[in-house]
Amino acid sequence: MEKKEQLYEGKAKKVFATDDPDLLIVQYKDDATAFNGLKKGTIAGKGVINNQMSNRLMAMLESEGVPTHFVQELSQRETLVKRVSIVPLEVIVRNIAAGSFSKHYGVEEGMVFDKPTIEFSYKNDALGDPLLNTRHALALRVVTEAEIETIKAYSFRINELLQAFWKSCGVTLVDFKLEFGRLSDGTIVLADEISPDTCRLWDSKTHEKLDKDRFRRDLGGVEEAYAEIMKRLEAKLGG
Ligand code: UDP
Repeated sequence: MEKKEQLYEGKAKKVFATDDPDLLIVQYKDDATAFNGLKKGTIAGKGVINNQMSNRLMAMLESEGVPTHFVQELSQRETLVKRVSIVPLEVIVRNIAAGSFSKHYGVEEGMVFDKPTIEFSYKNDALGDPLLNTRHALALRVVTEAEIETIKAYSFRINELLQAFWKSCGVTLVDFKLEFGRLSDGTIVLADEISPDTCRLWDSKTHEKLDKDRFRRDLGGVEEAYAEIMKRLEAKLGG
């Protein structure tokens, strides 16, 4: 599959056209940002890890009946994906209080919920990705009622599958962010990535953070944490 013109460059990825109008190539970078782009840096090797991890996890989700944009890994940093139009919502599922949830509601990081939570924010950098509820999303006409129901159902199913997978690696899935897209026929599929950039992953025993919070909070050992979490995944799924 030939890589053609660059269509888009985001914070962590570049997107290229191919000779097939229904397929794109995503290329993962080592660039890292946090706090809506205010903090910038590089995490050496992150692009390779995020590419490989996201692809493995999406293949697992597909095998469990969750449709995704994943088609084929092309190289260490490049993947062929289905072209989608992104639904401009960030979907956040949480099992344990952390980050903005702890801050908003004044609860300590690590409080385990009886049931997972879900929240949405409106993908809009200029507005700072404001939180919104289902009715707000319908009012803004960014999704239909049927689409948001599908997105919620997939998100909770993905949580069950990812939680079980990471548990088997000795890792606790604290929370994560998903993005969905529409194929040309309107089908909703999981898009973007699932990686230590978009998930909070803690060692089950020590609660050591093995994700981007090490970068956000200047905890050190950022590259080592990404390498460790990838090693755990490979120990389970093979190298
Ligand atoms: N997250 C993300 N991109 C964002 C915001 C959040 O991938 O723009 C992920 C983040 O890594 C975490 C989860 O979503 O796993 C919940 O993040 P939270 O709302 O607590 O925000 P944060 O404290 O990370 O700003």
